[in-house]
Amino acid sequence: MIYADNAATTKVSEAALAAMLPCLTQVYGNPSSLYAFGQSAKELLEDARARIARCLNADPKEITFTSGGSEADNQALRTAAALGAKKGKKHIISTAFEHHAILHTLDALKKEGFEITLLDVHENGLITAQQVAETIRPDTALVTVMFANNEIGTVQPIAEIGAVCREKGVLFHTDAVQAAGHLPIDVQAMHIDMLSLSGHKFHGPKGTGVLYARKGIRLESLIYGGAQERNKRAGTENLPAIAGMAAALEESTAHLGETTEKLIRQRDRLIKGLSEIPHSILNGDAVHRLPSNVNFCFEAIEGESLLLLLDDKGICASSGSACTSGSLDPSHVLLAIGRPHEVAHGSLRLSLGEDITDDEIEYLIQSVKEVVAYLRNMSPVWRSLNEGKQQFVLP
Ligand SMILES: *Cc1c(COP(=O)(O)O)cnc(C)c1O
Repeated sequence: MIYADNAATTKVSEAALAAMLPCLTQVYGNPSSLYAFGQSAKELLEDARARIARCLNADPKEITFTSGGSEADNQALRTAAALGAKKGKKHIISTAFEHHAILHTLDALKKEGFEITLLDVHENGLITAQQVAETIRPDTALVTVMFANNEIGTVQPIAEIGAVCREKGVLFHTDAVQAAGHLPIDVQAMHIDMLSLSGHKFHGPKGTGVLYARKGIRLESLIYGGAQERNKRAGTENLPAIAGMAAALEESTAHLGETTEKLIRQRDRLIKGLSEIPHSILNGDAVHRLPSNVNFCFEAIEGESLLLLLDDKGICASSGSACTSGSLDPSHVLLAIGRPHEVAHGSLRLSLGEDITDDEIEYLIQSVKEVVAYLRNMSPVWRSLNEGKQQFVLP
């Protein structure tokens, strides 16, 4: 099997598992308990916090553990909204291609009286700091722009956007779930006020994440209860997952340079191979993209059929995001970069793992070529396109 869906989730690394096991079987005390056994758990918790902070160039006090990327995104937006509302600022800037954890929270805030401006995304899947600068108003409470897109892999100019926001005195949050462990992150140099990450996207376990919030930002609680996480996130800490996430982030951050170089070479080979398929197009910028991400649209292809036939060949891939694949709506990300509905339906995302081999890359190219040709062969749409009864959308 070739697992090429690492943007959906990743395998827990050996290092993460090794860090988790003792927390499950030996140091299983409650970090809030006062006896020494509980305090050992507390020490592991604070050790994980310090290690994660170091990977982001943050202070441990700025790290809050959550149940994952979605919760961190919700808490960041709720925090900015509460702080803004106190000052009469009820305008939020974001983009049309954010993850649903952001977009659906923004929908909820809109119902509560906030005004949301979604920046247009350029066809290459990027926005500019200048667009942000031109959209900021005196009543803007927050700018939230994702670091790297989960579908098309484009990497935004986060440091430039951060600088604009800092200069104008507006809070800046970034959903860095796809970036953490895959790209260098420095919250200070990049002027990031709040940042979300999720353990299971970089070989940590599922159900754990981090909200970084710069010193001085009072987080708004989403979950009320005990005094864990300095009163900002009630509930007994998921220490095994947190310890695993810290080990995974440390490991992937340490190996960033080598894996990036190898993956970029393999990604570009894959892009070159798939570009040979007629009437296909790469989605997202060719350079400003995650080393692991390849995303194409193929004309006259149904993404779902493509995935099922690739599955028969032992390939795990995705079409649109996991959240949209259950529905018939085309991906909001592909629509945001201007792909027409019928083309957006024929999309394929391959997200590579660090251990993928060159032979596997060749197998992926060969398999996608075969499956696309097979499906087109029996497609009435393909026939009428070739007979000139219908116009091709893609060159
Ligand atoms: C996966 C993902 C999330 C959600 O993270 P969970 O830990 O699964 O809740 C949020 N944003 C992006 C960009 C993601 O890829």
